[in-house]
Amino acid sequence: MIIDGHNDLVLRTWREQETKHVDLASAEAADFAGGFFALWVPGAPGAMDEPVLAPYNLPLEPRLPHAHAAVVAQEQLAVFRSLGLPLATSPADFVPGRVTAILHMEGAEALDSMLTDLVGWYRDGLRSLGLVWGRPNAFAEGVPFRFPGSPDTGPGLTTAGLRLVEACNDLGILVDLSHLNERGFWDVAGITTAPLVATHSNAHALCASTRNLTDRQLDAIGESGGVVGINFAVGFLREDGNNVVDTPLGEIVRHISYIAKRIGVEHVAFGSDFDGALVSDEVGGIQGFPAIVAALAEAGFDEGDIAKITHGNWLRVFGATWR
Ligand code: ZN
Repeated sequence: MIIDGHNDLVLRTWREQETKHVDLASAEAADFAGGFFALWVPGAPGAMDEPVLAPYNLPLEPRLPHAHAAVVAQEQLAVFRSLGLPLATSPADFVPGRVTAILHMEGAEALDSMLTDLVGWYRDGLRSLGLVWGRPNAFAEGVPFRFPGSPDTGPGLTTAGLRLVEACNDLGILVDLSHLNERGFWDVAGITTAPLVATHSNAHALCASTRNLTDRQLDAIGESGGVVGINFAVGFLREDGNNVVDTPLGEIVRHISYIAKRIGVEHVAFGSDFDGALVSDEVGGIQGFPAIVAALAEAGFDEGDIAKITHGNWLRVFGATWR
C-alpha cells in the first residue's frame, strides 16, 4: 500500500487540465492508496516553473491578496470534493484497494491572519497545512527557487505564524515544513508539539536546491519522530539540479537511502509532487510506484523497511498528530 505526501491533481482539475501523473483509474494496479491532495493558489502564470538547466536564481513571488486566495481555495475545495474520494481524518481511513485523500493546503494565504476561519477549514476536513509556498504571506516566508542555494533565505515566522502553529497543534492539523525557509523551520521546531514533517522535500547534501533539507534539518525531523516525503521532481533530486525528464529512477532511491542512513528508515517516505512537478520518464506517474518499490528492494531495503517507507511512517505520524 502506497501513501504519498503530495500531489496537485486538484490544481490540474481546477484548471480544467487533464492529469499528467495521478490517473485514479490506475490506482489499484499501482497499489496507490492516496495521501495528501493539495489546494494551491497560483500567482502570476508561469512564475512557478524552474528553468530547465541549473544554475538558476528566481526571485521570490510577490504576496497574494488574502481575499483572492480565500476565494480560489474555496473553489478548489469544491473541486477536491468533486473527486468523490473518502476524506482522511484518521490513520485507519487508509486501506488497500481505494484512494483516500488528505485535505492539504499548500500556503496559508487563504487563511485570515486572525485565524477566524481555521476551525471552519478543520470542519471541512483540513488535516494538513503548509505554512507557505515560494512567497511571503502573513505567517511566514517560503524559499525562492534557487540552485545551488541554501534554504536560509529570509525571515522566520511572524507572530501570526507562531499563533497558527499553536492553533494547528491544538486542533490536530499537521504543519508541513516543505517550502518554508530555514529560519521558519527552526521557529516551528521550537514551538510545535507534533512530529516535524516535510511532505515533499529532499536531501540538500545530495542536491543543493533551496527546496531541500540540510543535514541539521533532517536530524531535527528524525529526533522529533517525524518524516520526510521524498519529492520526485528531478530538479530536487539530481546533483546537477537540472530539470530534465531523462533522469534515472534511482535518484529517488539515492535520497531515500541517504536519509534512511542518516536519521533512520522510520523517517522517510514518498512525497511525489505528481501533477505539480517534472518527474523522470522512468516514473511517469502513480503507475511508476511499483518500479520504485522494486528498486528499493534491489538497494537492500527489506520488506519491513519498505512497509515503513511506503505507508507505515506516514500512518505513524498521522496517529501522533491528528485528534
Ligand atoms: Zn510544493
